[in-house]
Amino acid sequence: MLTVRYRGGIVVEYGCDAVTLDPTGLTPHPAFISHAHADHSAAFKHPDIWKGSTEETRRLVEALGWGRGQNWRKIRAGSSLCVGEIEVRGHNAGHVLGSLLLEAITPEGTVLYTGDFNVGDSYTMEAAEPVECDILVVETTFASPLFSFPSRREVALDMVKWAVFDVIPRGRTPAFRTDPIGNAQEIISIFNRYTNLPVLTLGSVTRASDVYKAYGFKLEYIDARSDEGEELLEDGRCILIAPKGSKLSSERLEPALASGWAAIMRGRSSRPFPLSDHSDFKGVLRFIRGCRPKKVLTFHGTALSRGFPEYLRRKLGIEAYPLTARGEGVRLRPRSEERIKRCCEQILLEMRSGFIYRPSWLMRAMALRGYSRDETQEAIRRLVERGILREDEEGVKIAQ
Ligand SMILES: [Zn+2]
Ligand SMILES: [Zn+2]
Repeated sequence: MLTVRYRGGIVVEYGCDAVTLDPTGLTPHPAFISHAHADHSAAFKHPDIWKGSTEETRRLVEALGWGRGQNWRKIRAGSSLCVGEIEVRGHNAGHVLGSLLLEAITPEGTVLYTGDFNVGDSYTMEAAEPVECDILVVETTFASPLFSFPSRREVALDMVKWAVFDVIPRGRTPAFRTDPIGNAQEIISIFNRYTNLPVLTLGSVTRASDVYKAYGFKLEYIDARSDEGEELLEDGRCILIAPKGSKLSSERLEPALASGWAAIMRGRSSRPFPLSDHSDFKGVLRFIRGCRPKKVLTFHGTALSRGFPEYLRRKLGIEAYPLTARGEGVRLRPRSEERIKRCCEQILLEMRSGFIYRPSWLMRAMALRGYSRDETQEAIRRLVERGILREDEEGVKIAQ
C-alpha cells in the first residue's frame, strides 16, 4: 500500500520503505529537500539525516549558514535516487535556483510533491511543467482567487518606472526588501536588463547571489558594505536590495516590498510590487489539471486558501483534502504497463550476449534502479515469451 501523511514533513510510505520530503526536524527516514528556503531545508541542520537535494540547494543553504551538507546525495531535475522500492525523481519547480518537484515512484502508484513551484517564466527561472501522478501534494500559498499576478514584464517595468522616474529624481534611493533567494536575483536581473543603475546588495542577498553567479547567471551587483558600495550609496543614484525584515537605517532610502503578498497590500510604509516566485490561483489550477491526479492533498496554505480543497471537489470534481497526519492512500493499481516496459529495456541494457544471468542477480540489479522483484519477474517472463531471452535451469541469456 502506498500512503502519504504529514509527520514532521511529507512522509511517503510503500511496504517497509519510507522517505520524508522536506522534514522540519529529525526523521528516521531518508530525506529529500525540494529547495533551499528555510521552511523546507531544515534537514541540513541535522548531520545524521541522510539527505538528497540538488547541488544548488546545498550550496545556497551553506552560503546562508543554515546548515551543512553531511550525509548528502545529489539529485537533479531528470535524475532519481532509490530508497528500497521507492524511486524519487526530481523535476524543475521553477521557483528558485535548484528547486525541484519531487516525484515518488512505487510499483503501485506515484506521488508528486510540489515543494514551492511557479508555472510562470521569470528572468532567472524556467516555468514548472505538470507531471502526471496518482497523488498530488500541492502547495497552496497563493491558491485563492485574490491572487492573480500581472505578467513578469509588467511588474518589472513598474519597478523600473517607480525607481527611475519617481524615487531617484527626488534625490532618494529605492530600497527593495525581499527574499534573499529568488526574488532578490530577479530584481538584480530586472535592473541590469532595463537600466544602467548600479545594484547594491546586503548580507544574505549578496551571498545567495554569489551562488547564482557560480552557476552561470549573469548578475551585476556590488555588496553595499564594500568601499565601492558605500561610495555609491553615498551618491544615492543606485538600487539597494536588502533581505526582508532588515532595518534600513538611512533616511534617504525609499522602501519597497517585492513579494506575492504585495498583490493584496496597500502601500503604507513601503511601496508593494507583486513579484512572486509562486504560482497564482489560476496557475495552481492549470498545474493540477495537467497532473491529472486521482487525489489532491493541499499544504502550505493560509487562511486565504482554506477553501481551496472544497473548490477542487465542487468545481473540478477532483478528490481533494488538506494533507494531515492520517495516511492517505491510493487504491492498488495493477503493475503499471509503462514501468514493465521500462524494466524490459533496462534488463536488456544490463545484459551482454553470451553470458548467463541468474534471475536473483537481475532482480538485485533492477532493484538498484527502482524496480520491484515482481516487476523484474514479469519483465523477464515477457522477454522470454517474445523469444528475446532464453531461460534454462542455469539462468537467462540473450537468445542468439
Ligand atoms: Zn520557497
Ligand atoms: Zn515554502
